[in-house]
Amino acid sequence: MACNNNKNNIVVVFDFDKTIIDVDSDNWVIDELGFTDLFNQLLPTMPWNRVMDCMMKELHDQGKTIEEIKQALRTIPIHPRIVPAIKAAHALGCELRIVSDANMFFIETMVEHLGISELFSEINSNPGFVDEHDTLRISPYHDFTNSSHGCTLGTCPPNMCKGLVIERIQDSLAKEGKKMIYLGDGAGDYCPSLKLKAEDYVMPRKNFPVWDLISQNPLLVKATIREWTDGESLEKILMGTIEEIILEEEKEKKMLSTSAENTCKIHTISVGINVHHEPIMPRALRVSQSG
Ligand SMILES: [Mg+2]
Ligand SMILES: [Zn+2]
Repeated sequence: MACNNNKNNIVVVFDFDKTIIDVDSDNWVIDELGFTDLFNQLLPTMPWNRVMDCMMKELHDQGKTIEEIKQALRTIPIHPRIVPAIKAAHALGCELRIVSDANMFFIETMVEHLGISELFSEINSNPGFVDEHDTLRISPYHDFTNSSHGCTLGTCPPNMCKGLVIERIQDSLAKEGKKMIYLGDGAGDYCPSLKLKAEDYVMPRKNFPVWDLISQNPLLVKATIREWTDGESLEKILMGTIEEIILEEEKEKKMLSTSAENTCKIHTISVGINVHHEPIMPRALRVSQSG
């Protein structure tokens, strides 16, 4: 576990599928365990998140164990520069989070396997847990059977609006004046990109859906846009952006402390004047007052 005493003012929010890992974890597990055809048959009939829950029941019924699912997850390809980039961002003092439409079970299994689970302060994803029958159950982050999450952008799935998650994170960070760097690839990463503020950064993966959506009208995004292509460029651009923000903030701090020093000097001088100032009052009056 990296030491993280020197906290900076930056929160880095990662998407998971095709951002941290190189593939979609749902597709990977289904394909690895040989259930692609059934998955494709179900997909047009119900939301993706519900298909995954059905598929996990099917896997269980066909004798696939939780350990086999975990084993499939451990073989997921990841670019060799991604883990070093995540560790470096943490070592520089950034707070790290994951916001993903995969599920908690897949993500926790992967980050533990990669040895980086301790580096994330929060993971937001669809709940995933093993029930009493040893079946992995996947439920929606937002329960859309009772009500919609309310986002009308059209690029968010019914079970999760990442924009709402980002707004909640922004609310909790508002007092601390933290800056956010958001990385993603999918259409679901577009909504959070629009929620970012002018002082934030968005890192869309080039030629992926979020990049296409942003490119249609970049002026809708207030944050600085920095595209990336693979793990190597992700590392370079993320590190460069973090260092840039840290340098800028150090400069600002220096300017503030210099102006604070100047204010102190002026204050000392004015105190000095007051100390040596004789009260402007006729002597006779002073006598009569005291008497
Ligand atoms: Mg993704
Ligand atoms: Zn949304």
